[in-house]
Amino acid sequence: MHKHIQRMLSDIRKEVEYTRSMIGKDALDPQILEVMGRIPRDQFVPEAQRNHAYDNGPLPIGHGQTISQPYIVALMTDMLAPQPHHRVLEIGTGSGYQTAILASLCERVYSVELTRALSEQATERFRQMSLDNIETRVSDGYQGWPEHAPYDGIMVTAAAPYVPEALLDQLKTGGRLIIPVGEPYSHQDLILLEKEPDGSTRQKHLLAVAFVPLRHGETS
Ligand code: SAH
Repeated sequence: MHKHIQRMLSDIRKEVEYTRSMIGKDALDPQILEVMGRIPRDQFVPEAQRNHAYDNGPLPIGHGQTISQPYIVALMTDMLAPQPHHRVLEIGTGSGYQTAILASLCERVYSVELTRALSEQATERFRQMSLDNIETRVSDGYQGWPEHAPYDGIMVTAAAPYVPEALLDQLKTGGRLIIPVGEPYSHQDLILLEKEPDGSTRQKHLLAVAFVPLRHGETS
């Protein structure tokens, strides 16, 4: 394995250890790190950011958006507990990096993005990498993607001021929804929701995070 990728994985492991009291575990599922060791993050960032592709931090991807920090990608993937038979919905395709990781662990990933240019770029990457179990769509993630519901898991990679109702509706019983909740550029909490058989939801706050906002409005 590339030495830069190895450094990234070791940085993720260290940050998991530092945050273990918040996230409630000492280590993530090794399969997730194995997949992250195979997906070339440098292919998901703009040319000018390539040198930093394996740093454990977010990076700008244009259109005012960012590719998430590798530790956060690993943690959110672990919290979603993806299984090979799962059909998962992702809100905020962005670079497509998180999508590619989910696609390597699940049967199918449906990914929604509001910014057309980012969606098209990510879709082209999936095609080039022969990731053929991903479907993308340009639309508003607050509405989810009802046509393929219900989902075994839903991951939102932009911060919303509340949990969108449509996403809870589109989650299977026993399914998990992971979402950063909070005001834009202010305090946000990474939250894990589990839908119980009686229709109620169990909510766990994990840690403070900083995501770009889940925007309301028209696709662009
Ligand atoms: N998982 C991505 C994160 C990108 S940042 C990655 O690691 O690259 C969040 C993304 O959510 C941005 O691309 C932004 O354009 C998108 N977004 C913001 N509001 C949205 C909405 N209402 N519906 C769908 N996508 C949205």
